[in-house]
Amino acid sequence: MLSNYSVVDLSHELHADVPTWTGESGFRSQVDFDYDEIGCRVMSYQLAAGTGTHMDAPSHFVNGGAGISDLPIENFVAPLCVIRVSSAEDNDYLVSEADISRFEEQYGLISENSLAVADTGWAQRWKDPDRYRNADKMGQLHFPGFHIDAVRLLLQRGIVGIGIDTMSPDGGNTEFPVHHLLLPQGKYIIENLANLHLLPESGAWAVVLPPKIRGGTEAPCRCIALLPPGVGK
Ligand SMILES: [Zn+2]
Repeated sequence: MLSNYSVVDLSHELHADVPTWTGESGFRSQVDFDYDEIGCRVMSYQLAAGTGTHMDAPSHFVNGGAGISDLPIENFVAPLCVIRVSSAEDNDYLVSEADISRFEEQYGLISENSLAVADTGWAQRWKDPDRYRNADKMGQLHFPGFHIDAVRLLLQRGIVGIGIDTMSPDGGNTEFPVHHLLLPQGKYIIENLANLHLLPESGAWAVVLPPKIRGGTEAPCRCIALLPPGVGK
């Protein structure tokens, strides 16, 4: 049925050297038993829950909020709106209300239950963790995010969540206004998205699937986009 659809992988590969908020490694894997020992390889992984391409559930910021396994599965399949902006001139660029309006003038009103993601161009720094974290001399991180007014407008549209190709929709702002606005509304956030530049602004579907971890506040997430026939960039 989906044979004419094309698929774009929106998750980065997870390994020990991916960029993290603290700069420490967020992922470790080890071989517990190997082929020559037991005829197969058994591994274990240890990771910070918010490593790599991952989802924040409401409970990440809201005591008693929905966790990863509580979120409605319907919200994990959503029409995808790609708000394309450039962070080339301003590393602290925040997607504005005007950016959303410009998107809607061109592609129509963002429909209810959409996933709105910002393609800021930052993903091209992923393979260079120092450039991706972009810490200044004081240790303050600098990368693009969303302005809170833009997120207010997206909430009016009834989105299921937002995503971005940086470590946080708040940019380096550690007061996390966007997290504090969105998560209490039962919405989710996806951080460190990949390959958004391959998507059309409108017409694709997102499928975002974190493992079903009970009580999880964040979880790595395999995210893909499905492009129906005729929809492409
Ligand atoms: Zn977050």
